[in-house]
Amino acid sequence: MGQTAIDPNNLPYADGDFYAFEEVLSASERARLHEVRDWLAKEVRPIAVDCWNRGEFPMEIIPKLAELDVVSPVRRQGYSNLLAGLLHAEFTRADTSIATFMGVHDGLFTGSIEALASQEQQDAWLPDIYSLKKIGAFGLTEPLGGSDVAGGTRTTAIRDGGSWILNGAKRWIGNATFSDWVVIYARDVADNQVKGFLVDTTLEGYQATKIENKISLRTVQNADIILDNVVVPDEFHLKGANSFKDTNKVLKVTRLAVAWQAVGQQMAAFDVARRYAVERHQFGKPLASYQLVQEQLVQILGNTVASMGMMVRLAQLEDLGAAKDEQSALAKAFTTARMRESVALGRGILGGNGIVTDYEMAKIFADAEAIYSYEGTHEINSLVTGRAITGIAAFV
Ligand code: FAD
Repeated sequence: MGQTAIDPNNLPYADGDFYAFEEVLSASERARLHEVRDWLAKEVRPIAVDCWNRGEFPMEIIPKLAELDVVSPVRRQGYSNLLAGLLHAEFTRADTSIATFMGVHDGLFTGSIEALASQEQQDAWLPDIYSLKKIGAFGLTEPLGGSDVAGGTRTTAIRDGGSWILNGAKRWIGNATFSDWVVIYARDVADNQVKGFLVDTTLEGYQATKIENKISLRTVQNADIILDNVVVPDEFHLKGANSFKDTNKVLKVTRLAVAWQAVGQQMAAFDVARRYAVERHQFGKPLASYQLVQEQLVQILGNTVASMGMMVRLAQLEDLGAAKDEQSALAKAFTTARMRESVALGRGILGGNGIVTDYEMAKIFADAEAIYSYEGTHEINSLVTGRAITGIAAFV
């Protein structure tokens, strides 16, 4: 009797979710995950490489994202943090740049408004933000203030009657070349505290210039921002953003989202490398038939599953309201380190084709570098965790 041919792309384990973590979700949340996954496969993955090569953001995706209704899944739509995390991983698996657009608009920007604006401000602004009629950005990092921006914010805010006058510079601000609004964090010269302001990007004295020549997340439009005597009425000062401790409430959540990105990045590397290894033949046999290649695929899978397991537990802690800053920091440090190893292995499995974006892997490989550095670098998140386990702060 002849052996039944195996379709290597239709195996139960062809998906990177090797331990079926998504089954932890309720049936309705799982259905939503599949709906978004299918949408991303149809709308995002096919255009992602071309946008990345050109370094242009596909503005036509915004109304489609609005229709998909994906902003604020936990607070507005009542979904679990686990679904929110898995959705973010799926976005990243399809394209890290579009995931980062969402990470900035939804996580950093909307997160700032939801956590730090007064109820009256939220009622006025959130409907347009949720429906993506207004696109947002998050301006914290500065040319001279990166890892140390908490104590090193140089942008100033001066109260002048019913307004604030902002002066300074911001760097790396995602979406800021086309966003309608940007939350700017600036130091109030009166009390030396970092405060948050919703700034309309059409205001006089505001200027955003695209950062060119990136080797990572080329589709994301990062900007250098100059604030030259920008006058912001007091009703746009976020009433709950009055010290860096307040800003940290936003970063604690978004740091977790970036760790979920590291999961999605590894799922993408596994998808592409596994398929390539079973399809590409050398020495008359598929690459996947060689033991060394299988070991590399298993290493990527093990990294992905370990990262995902950590994130699933952390999402459960979040749902219980019990996730701590240092737990987010460890997750970001650990998953991004595993991710760097996974994408390097994946790139190697594609040989020369791993360095051209046509096969997706080069984009996945390069995009991992931004994830490794933003939202607190690997080192800073390690130090936050180190402080928690030793009681000794190795940085101020
Ligand atoms: P630096 O702080 O200059 O660090 C350089 C190196 O030194 C790093 O390896 C770092 O780990 C290390 N280092 C620094 N201090 C220490 C220490 N005490 N001990 C050990 N090592 C140390 N910011 C925003 O506000 N909004 C955005 O939308 C945004 N989007 C971004 C998108 C991209 C693609 C990138 C790359 C960045 C983005 N950022 C954004 C900024 C990002 O958060 C910063 O890049 C990050 O915080 C690191 O700051 P830095 O790049 O200035 O590096």
